[in-house]
Amino acid sequence: MRIIMLGAPGAGKGTQAKRISDQYDIPHISTGDIFRANIKNGTELGVKAKTYMDQGLLVPDELVVDLIVDRLRQDDCVKGYILDGFPRTIPQAEALAIALNANGEKIDFAINVEVPDTNIIHRMAGRRACVNCGRTYHIVNIPPKAEGICDACGGQLVLRDDDKPETVAKRLDVYHQQTKPLIEFYSSKGILAVVDGTKEMDEVFAAIEKELNKK
Ligand code: AMP
Repeated sequence: MRIIMLGAPGAGKGTQAKRISDQYDIPHISTGDIFRANIKNGTELGVKAKTYMDQGLLVPDELVVDLIVDRLRQDDCVKGYILDGFPRTIPQAEALAIALNANGEKIDFAINVEVPDTNIIHRMAGRRACVNCGRTYHIVNIPPKAEGICDACGGQLVLRDDDKPETVAKRLDVYHQQTKPLIEFYSSKGILAVVDGTKEMDEVFAAIEKELNKK
């Protein structure tokens, strides 16, 4: 099963993608996580990506597409995967479709986790991410067991640079202009499912499962 998660930054697609990945035993591939790992390791890609990410802008398509297409060719992707944060532009979606088509493959589901902008701004301000493993929490909605410490690996939890309020406003702007058109793109292909992302996490996950079980 090949799945794409759509939704504004902070809509909860990462959290849901991890659950789907566990449930269906398919890899969770997050371009944001890949970039953050590259930044942490000081790679050339990381240095380039950071300049865009810190401003709330998208990393240019040419730095993203080949990276993902190569990742999808790895052995763990044979049963499918869940893409979180890719594609984020129409050219990325078209490049993905061409790369998959060349192998006789296609995306099975695009799941749009719908959350209004006002909720997003509130969520991002309270979001904390582990400096070590990238897992995200929310100081009110998804608190860690011990304040400031990651449940999964014991790493320190911080407000990511790109979650700072001024950057969030820019990211939302970019989302509306460049990423939202993907909803229509996948709807026209008949593979779009929409879930209400304002609900409790378990409810959102149940709604996603219901959609995935329809086929
Ligand atoms: P995320 O963790 O998915 O919100 O991604 C964090 C940041 O990484 C985004 O704000 C972008 O700057 C960059 N990024 C992640 N995925 C992509 C993508 N598919 N295309 C361009 N930039 C991306």
